[in-house]
Amino acid sequence: MSSLKFIEEKKTTPVKLECDVVIAGGGTAGVVAALAAARNGAKTVMVDRYGYLGGTMLNGAGPLHSFFNLYKAFPGVEKKQVVRGIPQEIIDRLIKAGGCLGHLEQEKGFSYDSVATIIDWEIFKSVIFDIMEEARVKLLLHTMVVDTIKEGDEVRGIIIESKSGREALLAKVVIDVTGDGDVAFKAGVKCINTFPDGHVGMPFGMANVDISKAVRFFEDNDMITQIARADKGSDHDDYVRVGFNLKKLEVFKNYMDKYGMWGPLTVSKHENDFSFINTTNVKPLDAIDIEEITRAEMELRKQVAGMADLLKKHIPGFEKAYISWTPIHFGVRRTRIVECEHDISIDEIINAVRFDDDVAVYGFHDCAPRIMIKDGGVYGIPYRALLPKGVENLLVAGRLITTNWEAHMSTRNTVSCMAQGQAVGTAAALCTSRGVNPRKLDIKLLQNTLKDQGVYFGD
Ligand SMILES: Cc1cc2nc3c(=O)[nH]c(=O)nc-3n(C[C@H](O)[C@H](O)[C@H](O)COP(=O)(O)OP(=O)(O)OC[C@H]3O[C@@H](n4cnc5c(N)ncnc54)[C@H](O)[C@@H]3O)c2cc1C
Repeated sequence: MSSLKFIEEKKTTPVKLECDVVIAGGGTAGVVAALAAARNGAKTVMVDRYGYLGGTMLNGAGPLHSFFNLYKAFPGVEKKQVVRGIPQEIIDRLIKAGGCLGHLEQEKGFSYDSVATIIDWEIFKSVIFDIMEEARVKLLLHTMVVDTIKEGDEVRGIIIESKSGREALLAKVVIDVTGDGDVAFKAGVKCINTFPDGHVGMPFGMANVDISKAVRFFEDNDMITQIARADKGSDHDDYVRVGFNLKKLEVFKNYMDKYGMWGPLTVSKHENDFSFINTTNVKPLDAIDIEEITRAEMELRKQVAGMADLLKKHIPGFEKAYISWTPIHFGVRRTRIVECEHDISIDEIINAVRFDDDVAVYGFHDCAPRIMIKDGGVYGIPYRALLPKGVENLLVAGRLITTNWEAHMSTRNTVSCMAQGQAVGTAAALCTSRGVNPRKLDIKLLQNTLKDQGVYFGD
């Protein structure tokens, strides 16, 4: 980097609007946070850098992990839906719009995840706008959050940049759901950069795949690791989730080992459509460094082309397939972790620990069956884990919490992020209506409000 520095002129930034709650990031946690805040009476504005909402849930994740406990891995343990509330309501709306087949039982691989919840990302993109409009959330899309406005220890809002220029949004409470802790970092909150322990990857879709033919081939070669099925309205394809071990074939093993790839998994609710998750990989990568981000996009898009080529050449059923989609941004698992009043540990997760200030519970671990929550139970996500240290008027949620890698392999999953989102959105609205700062919020009031609004806290 050049040692030359350019000194910018002092700027006067116009205030675009003032509101109760600003949600920085319209992704997995953000959409739920915005709905929770607005429905609890807060004038809510949500900002995202892209032209649609959903974040990594639509650009990296496959099945939504997980609305349920891991009951199938523990014979005799009751099946329980542990995340409900607004996340489930979004699923209900998607089912109604033809964008989800519900929570399907896994026939195979159920010690990893007992239930498969697959959504249609394109249907999500339009349905979620309907829900936002109904809740009167004001959206600012194609808008970057570039700075945080702070007076003393108090966050007062954010600075945004868009085609309209540089503007300020003032708010009583700001929620950082950017995934990367962009607001918290700019507010001076201590953040841990987890580089180099975060893999990044680029899922992709292939259309015109004869999935049944491919599955027969995988079965004949003993490659299948996961299966969930449902009626997709097809006379030959009812596969909604299929996991398979491509490394059993030497040509794939060589290619995948070269890049440190693992997986893969396909999910789809459409006939002959194949969405390839968890295969491409770049590591190590600092996904908040623009040079590295650029390198990852270039490398991963080449890997997608290479993998699609191999599938066409070597897997029966892929002969006429073609790449039908790639994400807007490669998928990032972990970058900055924001230091909060509590850091959920792997021991707390495994031992299903509950806290006095729980605002959600969760029952999935991405390393299962190697790492599982005791007795197929749930652990608590305490309010303190969403409250950054040393700053006022700021809440956080999503993949930017939990420093320990193994613990993060649970808390970062989509449905956990959604549950956290409902908690912080509700908390922010209660703070603004009661005129208190998040650190002073009555936790019983928050818990009772969440319970009244469908959040499950365990029996
Ligand atoms: C390859 C991959 C596969 C995965 N597979 C699964 C899976 O199968 N199941 C599962 O449950 N989870 C999976 N995950 C994990 C899960 O998808 C993510 O951890 C989760 O979606 C993160 O949610 P979030 O709300 O924290 O962040 P995001 O959903 O990424 O939301 C952040 C939002 O903030 C916006 N944003 C960021 N910075 C700014 C800024 N400065 N200005 C404006 N907007 C900004 C982004 O555009 C985005 O919309 C996977 C992740 C990856 C990367």
